[in-house]
Amino acid sequence: MIPANIKALILDMDGVLWRGDQPIGDLAAIFARIAERGLKVVFATNNSVRTPEQFVERLRGFGVGCESWQVVTSSLAAADLISRRFPPGTPIYAVGETGLKQALRDKGFEVLGVEDAEKAQAVLMGIDRDINFQKLAEAALLVRRGIPFYASNPDKTFPTPRGEIPGAGSWYSIVVTASGIEPIVAGKPGPAMMELALQRLGLSAAEALVVGDRLETDIAAGQSVGCPCALVLSGVSQKDEARAWQPKIDLIAPDLASLVA
Ligand SMILES: [Mg+2]
Repeated sequence: MIPANIKALILDMDGVLWRGDQPIGDLAAIFARIAERGLKVVFATNNSVRTPEQFVERLRGFGVGCESWQVVTSSLAAADLISRRFPPGTPIYAVGETGLKQALRDKGFEVLGVEDAEKAQAVLMGIDRDINFQKLAEAALLVRRGIPFYASNPDKTFPTPRGEIPGAGSWYSIVVTASGIEPIVAGKPGPAMMELALQRLGLSAAEALVVGDRLETDIAAGQSVGCPCALVLSGVSQKDEARAWQPKIDLIAPDLASLVA
């Protein structure tokens, strides 16, 4: 089913590899098949909280071996975007968790908290489960002063067993409302994370197949950089919506196992 010119897969995780803690199919067998076909793999997630190393551990727990360079998160994409404009050492006010702060430090940036937010030259917001009034107030003050405003990912919610709860998009919307300024968003559906994935793979867009379960994030992101795209029906988006999607999706499969069979 996968065209012969494809050399790598850029895989979304939630809804493609697992749903919550439940794997979708026999992941060890699926990845053995991917290796047998000689396909390289990069995992691409809008999650900004976890570090690549934490995803490597999670994948290992599902029987999938990989290295940390193979994981790109919206935090990494955001740090990469910021590094295109600001040199190492630039002080950045970060509202987020470990994954986001580590991504900035790995690019050589100085990470500021609320106490010294004042001297920031850029603001980056991701999900922060310890969010509070002061953190949001400092972000709004900086953005209103014209300090460049970045966000890890636009997801308004994320799924839990009890339903959808506020995601990064919900939190930064407070700063948008207070400032009238929209952030530069790194995660899917924007191109930054896909650009980073292609750079890690050393491939051109035409050689990597983007695989996801969500049309408006995974597929839109893949199409934004010109990658061929495959939608799997094991997650959020349904077949009817997929068939109606423009531009047309290259492949639609029930799940990852049947895509790589
Ligand atoms: Mg997904």
